Amino acid sequence: MSKTVRVRFAPSPTGALHIGGVRTALFNYLFAKKHNGTFLLRIEDTDQNRYVEGAEEYIIDALNWCGIPYDEGINKEGNCGPYRQSERKELYKAYAEQLIESGNAYYAFDTTESLDHHRKDHEAKGKTFIYNWHNRLKLENSLSLSIAETSAKIKQGIPYVVRFKSPQDQKLQLNDLIRGQIEIDTNILDDKVLFKSDGMPTYHLANIVDDHLMDITHVIRGEEWLPSLALHYQLYKAFGWDAPEFAHLPLIMKPTGKGKLSKRDGDKLGFPVFPLSWNDSIGYKEAGYFPEAVINFLALLGWNPGTEQEIFNLEELIETFDLKRVNKSGARFDPDKTKWYNQHYLQSKSDKELAQLYLPILANKTITQPDIAQIEKIVSLIKERASFITDFWELSDYFFNSPENYAEKAVKKQWKEDTPQLMQTVSALINDVETFSSDQIETVIKNWITEQELSFGKIMAPLRLIIVGDMKGPHIFDIIEMIGKQESIDRIKKAIKLLG
Ligand code: GLU
Repeated sequence: MSKTVRVRFAPSPTGALHIGGVRTALFNYLFAKKHNGTFLLRIEDTDQNRYVEGAEEYIIDALNWCGIPYDEGINKEGNCGPYRQSERKELYKAYAEQLIESGNAYYAFDTTESLDHHRKDHEAKGKTFIYNWHNRLKLENSLSLSIAETSAKIKQGIPYVVRFKSPQDQKLQLNDLIRGQIEIDTNILDDKVLFKSDGMPTYHLANIVDDHLMDITHVIRGEEWLPSLALHYQLYKAFGWDAPEFAHLPLIMKPTGKGKLSKRDGDKLGFPVFPLSWNDSIGYKEAGYFPEAVINFLALLGWNPGTEQEIFNLEELIETFDLKRVNKSGARFDPDKTKWYNQHYLQSKSDKELAQLYLPILANKTITQPDIAQIEKIVSLIKERASFITDFWELSDYFFNSPENYAEKAVKKQWKEDTPQLMQTVSALINDVETFSSDQIETVIKNWITEQELSFGKIMAPLRLIIVGDMKGPHIFDIIEMIGKQESIDRIKKAIKLLG
């Protein structure tokens, strides 16, 4: 690569960023970092009707939370600003006029009503109305009207749009870094609007002009933009500019593999589709995902390293990422896999860090001044069963609170007639343990079981039930050590009283 790589993420602020958008940003980021290039954020807000308040801040916050900040863009001015298209409004008109002068575009005066009429008329005949070479001379535009008629209309202030004059009978050879060579017959293309009657450019014009002015070398974007590629290629040619390279990323598919992943799928199946919460939709962040996990699973949606490796931190992704290994076909979204990634990243955090993350949850449970060393120990005992920090409470509540009730099924199975009396002895043994450590307690109780020729299950199962309230949890003697002598004895007493 000879030119310095410059890529851009160019979202329209029309709402929250879908994870597909985050993946597009991520692939741009990885590509830029891999090639020591620049990752730019441009806000494409020329469609005022679709503008949503707060969406721009959301996009920036989401990129920051994911740990893939942009180098240049809004609030990070480089040499190519402004980076919000609405602030570049003045500049696009001249480019539209340039295309008219060179014969690549024309003024069109057709009213919305007249176009609607044509559309309906075609529909009724089972056809689709396409505005292009085959009918443009029959419509209201500067190609069908005389120069005098056209300038008269413009002078009178009759609203117009500027359309691209798509050529007839040409075969375009387009290149996509992921899909390879694509041939397009220009006869199927319509004369897309480049400039609207409200004085704003359309996406197509603004996008091409800005990519050119911002020196973008590679356009990496979602597959949904592939149908625009033919027009974009032609625009570069019409302007006499070198086109950047293009790479269209595969769609992210529903968990069933059929159809594009939508917000509805997330609502239905209970997983987030946004990085951060938006209105009443919960985001990955708020659902308890770590950004490293989100980045890792997104990277593998449509890209693979060519090996079995699944765990990648950001540096490894930058190192390994290659557009050549992006798949052409859609990437199936697997919500279970996202949890698996989160679990992995949770396990790899230190107990110290996890304890800190647990503190706010404990505070909510009115445990406001816990002994940090104890919390770290508890976390070390339970974390392997957790995928999220929010799983911690359910896995560890019995460390803090004596059980209020006991799992019914387990009581039926484990609580025998002689259990209360045996547990009295266990209580006495616990009371006598001098160095109150897990190992010591275990030795004392196990020796007694052996001496009495009892079965281990007969003692250990009801003991767990008493201490935990259920048959779950880590090593029972670790728990006993943690909650302490008096609390263990109290719990035994309480259970005997409640279960008889
Ligand atoms: N503004 C477009 C979008 O919302 C950008 C498409 C492109 O990257 O060219 O996705």
